[in-house]
Amino acid sequence: MKKLLHIHQNLKTHWVGDGFPVRSVFDYNGLGRELSPFLLLDHAAPTMFPPGEGRRGVGAHPHRGFETVTVVYQGELEHRDSSGGGGRIGTGDVQWMTAAGGIIHEEFHSQEFTRKGGMLEMVQLWVNLPAKHKNAKPGYQTLLKAQIPNVPLPDGTGHARIIAGEYAGHKGPARTFTRINLWDVNLRSGKSTELPLPNGDTAAILTLHGDILVNNDRDAGEGSLLVFNRDGDGITVKAKSDATLLVMAGEPISEPIVGEGPFVMNTKAEIQQAYEDYELDRMGTIPS
Ligand code: MN
Repeated sequence: MKKLLHIHQNLKTHWVGDGFPVRSVFDYNGLGRELSPFLLLDHAAPTMFPPGEGRRGVGAHPHRGFETVTVVYQGELEHRDSSGGGGRIGTGDVQWMTAAGGIIHEEFHSQEFTRKGGMLEMVQLWVNLPAKHKNAKPGYQTLLKAQIPNVPLPDGTGHARIIAGEYAGHKGPARTFTRINLWDVNLRSGKSTELPLPNGDTAAILTLHGDILVNNDRDAGEGSLLVFNRDGDGITVKAKSDATLLVMAGEPISEPIVGEGPFVMNTKAEIQQAYEDYELDRMGTIPS
């Protein structure tokens, strides 16, 4: 069993652009080493947007050295980037963007969602790349709800949507550079399940909704990030109410993490280079 090390909570909200009221669950300056390969997690808890005009979100900005994974629980987003990637993702869909050597992208609510208004809930997780892949070609994967296996957990406990990695022989559609398990888990009140995760891998759970009991020992409420020991190969979770969990596990990358704003590299010099390449338009442009 993976031992629970600590529970981390940040319920303060800030806005990313004018579209995303997020809690910064963790970032690379705080838990980047402990949670490697995961660098940052933002959660936009359910927020009602009134009908509007124009575009809500963040305009063109760069990233280099990692991947961004956006999971939409409610609402609809639109994306475009300099690799030529883009599209619209709605409830249950996931966008897996590889910034790697450098990308410029924009992240907005879809025009239709803005026009009609509605509830928005999403998370964005940043996944680090090993040094040898930090300069790989940028790319974009749209993972639609229909492509993501929704696997029943034993004994009517609930369901696990396997975005990346594998559960009980069901493989997630995301292509990753290192071993990652990313699961969107829904548990029914009163039920308990064991989540099998690789021995040696970093593991963490964000409780998006509901209250849970972990490893028959600790209670955790909404907005909690549970950080586990790498040793051991499973986590027991009991739902004290209906619960939605984001389960993250991955092979740690044992390399230095130097991050600043939208860039995460291995050295300060590489960060300087990233700023220079961005300012000199070497990260491409978004096709019009
Ligand atoms: Mn971005």
